[in-house]
Amino acid sequence: MDITAAVARGAQVPLALETLTLEEPRANEVLVRIVATGVCHTDLVTKSVFPAELPIVLGHEGSGIVERVGSEVTDVKPGDHVLLTYSSCGTCSQCTTGAPCYCENFIILNTSGGRSDFTSPLSVNGERVMGAFFGQSSFATHALVLRTSVVVVDDEVDLVACAPFGCGVQTGAGAVANVMRPAPHESIVIFGVGGVGMSALLAARALGVENIVAVDLSAERLTLAKELGATTLIDGAAEDVVAQVHAATGGGATFALDTTAANPVIANALLALAPRGTLVVVGLGEASMDFEIGHLTGNGKAVRGCIEGGADPQQFIPQLIEWHRAGKFPIERISRHYPFAEVNTAMHDAEIGTTIKPILVLPNA
Ligand SMILES: [Zn+2]
Ligand SMILES: [Zn+2]
Repeated sequence: MDITAAVARGAQVPLALETLTLEEPRANEVLVRIVATGVCHTDLVTKSVFPAELPIVLGHEGSGIVERVGSEVTDVKPGDHVLLTYSSCGTCSQCTTGAPCYCENFIILNTSGGRSDFTSPLSVNGERVMGAFFGQSSFATHALVLRTSVVVVDDEVDLVACAPFGCGVQTGAGAVANVMRPAPHESIVIFGVGGVGMSALLAARALGVENIVAVDLSAERLTLAKELGATTLIDGAAEDVVAQVHAATGGGATFALDTTAANPVIANALLALAPRGTLVVVGLGEASMDFEIGHLTGNGKAVRGCIEGGADPQQFIPQLIEWHRAGKFPIERISRHYPFAEVNTAMHDAEIGTTIKPILVLPNA
């Protein structure tokens, strides 16, 4: 079938809306009419920093309505409303023990842009276009999606508002809810309140955490963080960030989240912890850690990484939807909607930070 998709043909070239040919669903695939799709930081860096195979259709926070399913898909049916998330193989040791985010085939299934056999479902006049980015390539009117990337939701779920739950929101919220698992009396300091950090903040509030410190370079973002429940705001450029966190948390935070992947920030995050505190790192980048081991052993501190919030999306996305339904997860406060044709504006606004979470609304919506 013919579809319209935003195609990336070069790091410095704007995405262009093109008519492409989409294959029929394979046995384990689902054809989804896309209603909306968030723009995630990984879309930006895949286009401009990391060399992806080109041309490629990005987009990996899609939502939509199922049109057809492959022959082996028995638990998803046409008409189902779905949120899309990262892809996993479903059969490796991580997938079968409840941790699909650490799937042994994660790279090939998600960031290569192709299917696990290196084919792609998209083409234009015989030219291959990579069309399985994060199992979905959702900057498009339709997508062929691996079954593992599909989370079926109730028909009442707002498919536009909730579209970004599948990656950026899950990444931040899951780092708190699945990895830290804070008690209300424990404290959290979040370094960087962009889309991931704000999602972490919303999850901390949903879990009833009372002491939440937000650190950022943007006064505007800090103001929004306060409105969303941060109890202490710290200018990330201040000389005494660590001392300010200690003062706000009575001697150091129970948990710290780094979303920046910047070496000096990570060093501060470790120092900002109380004894036995845990630093969770989720930022993508080339930061390395250089610290005295004694600083960990002498204080019982831990450093943990996680991807996609350590979440099994089949369980965690329904949790996010439930929080949203109950008014505890106001994603609308950090998102802005754009018509699909304005995909380059949405990407630009995310890059320069004027929009925390852009959501593209497809003409299908
Ligand atoms: Zn796997
Ligand atoms: Zn993402």
